This record gives sequence, C-alpha cells and structure tokens, in this order.
Amino acid sequence: MNCTKCGNPKIIIKKEQSGQYLCKDCFIESIEKKVIKTIKKEKLLDKGDKVLVALSGGKDSVTTLEILNTFRTRRIIDICAVIIDEGIDNYRQDGIDIAVRHAERLGIEYMIFSMKENFGITLDEIMEKPNHKGSCSYCGVFRRTLINRAAREMNATKIATGHNLDDEVQAILMNYLEGNTDNLTKLGAKTESDAEEFTVKIKPLREIPEREIGLYVVAKELEVHFASCPYAQQSFRGEISEILNQLNQAHPTIKYSTLRGYDKIKKAVKNDFKKDYPKKRCEKCGEPSANRLCKACSFLEELK
Ligand code: SF4
Ligand code: ZN
Repeated sequence: MNCTKCGNPKIIIKKEQSGQYLCKDCFIESIEKKVIKTIKKEKLLDKGDKVLVALSGGKDSVTTLEILNTFRTRRIIDICAVIIDEGIDNYRQDGIDIAVRHAERLGIEYMIFSMKENFGITLDEIMEKPNHKGSCSYCGVFRRTLINRAAREMNATKIATGHNLDDEVQAILMNYLEGNTDNLTKLGAKTESDAEEFTVKIKPLREIPEREIGLYVVAKELEVHFASCPYAQQSFRGEISEILNQLNQAHPTIKYSTLRGYDKIKKAVKNDFKKDYPKKRCEKCGEPSANRLCKACSFLEELK
C-alpha cells in the first residue's frame, strides 16, 4: 500500500476517519493542516494575541506548542508557557525538564508555578492526609488556579491547552451520563468565563485523536514525557475511554460524530443551562468565585 497523497511506499498510518494511508511527511502535514483549520474555523487566535501554553512536557502540550509556534514565527501571535509543578515525586521533574528544554529551544518566555510555593502543600503531601478526596480533584483545581494566575502575570490574552479529540469526547459523554448540565455548557473549542480575570481558553488539538498525536511526536522526533502519573487511577473517565475505544473499532467515525453532535446542540445547551454566577470574590485569595471561598481555598481549609 502506498501513501494516498504522494505515492511514497513507506506508509506509517491508516487514518481511521478517512481511510487514507499516509507516509510520514504527509501525515505530519495532515495534522498541522487540521489544527490550523480548527484554529481558523473556531476563530481561536486573533492577530497580536499572547497565548499562554500550559506545558507539561507530555505529547499533547508539546504538540500544541510546536504547532502554535508556526503562528509565532510568522509574527501573528506571541507565545509564553507555564509549567505546573504539582509536587509528585519520581514523576513530575522529568516532565518539567522536557518542558523547559522545549521552551528554551524555541526561545519562549516561561514560568514554573509550583503548588508548594503557591499553596504551601504538594500533591504528595495531600495524598498523605487521611481525609483526602482523591488526587485528581485537587490536581485539577489547583492547576487551573495556577494557570489562570500565570496568564494574568504574563499578560496573556488566551490560554491554550492540549485537550485532544479523545479528551473532549470523554468529557461530553461523562457530563451527559452524569447529568452535569453545568459542565456541559463549558465544553467547546473556546471557553470564556463571565469573570474578567479568567483568560479565554482554547483547545487547538480538539479534533485530533490521541493516537495520532502520539504518532505525530514520534514522526517529528519531539522529546516528550511518556510516563504516566503514579496517581492516575481507574476512574469514570477511564471507563468511558475504554467504551469509546471499543466502539471506535467497529465505528471509526464515532468520536468525530459525538463531537459534531455536541457542537450542534452546544448553543441550545448554553442558552438553557448556563448559570449566571454572582460576580463575587474569594474572601481569602481574591480570585473570582461563585461562593465565599474559591474551590482551591475551600480545599485548603478542609485539608488543614
Ligand atoms: Fe493530576 Fe496525576 Fe490526576 Fe493527572 S492523573 S490529574 S497529573 S493527579
Ligand atoms: Zn481563594
């Protein structure tokens, strides 16, 4: 079988959705073109934006940085990066080192924000507490707070995350199955919050399957952190991911059709279910919050 596009006999992938066989160069080009198409279609970037990339050193964030950098070299946008150190021994440091090497290779301004310095506690220390609620709940909340802080400190106009097609479809199904209409209103390629202090978030890789991002970094010979977090447990998200991957074998367009279906009803979901949060501030840290304390501060109180 030869490459459907250029005839090269060395093919590296059969694309699930289109059925095309592609060689390395045509595959790399197809990924980059598709991301650029998403950026244009969803109007994710404006000329003059300063985009903060949440860089973990993993395949998704490194790919996001690599492709957004093509807009930076054409002087359409500027880029900066934040690297979050959750404080996970024997895991996080390797990712941080890789993330730093990418930022320095591309000459991109970056900052490292650690949970220890900002909240006085590491994720490992939280996990030693008898009353903890599971690593990922804390990790997600604290990381979000730190990324928002970094965006303000570095004067970023957008925050780019590495969410891929699988992540987005899992989130759509999880929230639907759990009846979480509030979270359903927050998905999409671009999310804005009512609070001015929250920078617009964009997901340029939203239409790229996870498997193809893995192949992209290998094909481009990009250094990435492939190890998985020691706290990654069997979660509801994991179960949904398994079901989707099983379905995908017999129905290779199922992830795209789920995404397209959500995009069609998103406006109606937002109109009907978007809550107007009272514009309050956390009494402790001053971050915008719907309650007396923001989620990060209320977690810290509970952990005392
Ligand atoms: Fe954080 Fe690890 Fe959970 Fe990911 S798997 S959210 S890095 S604790
Ligand atoms: Zn707070």
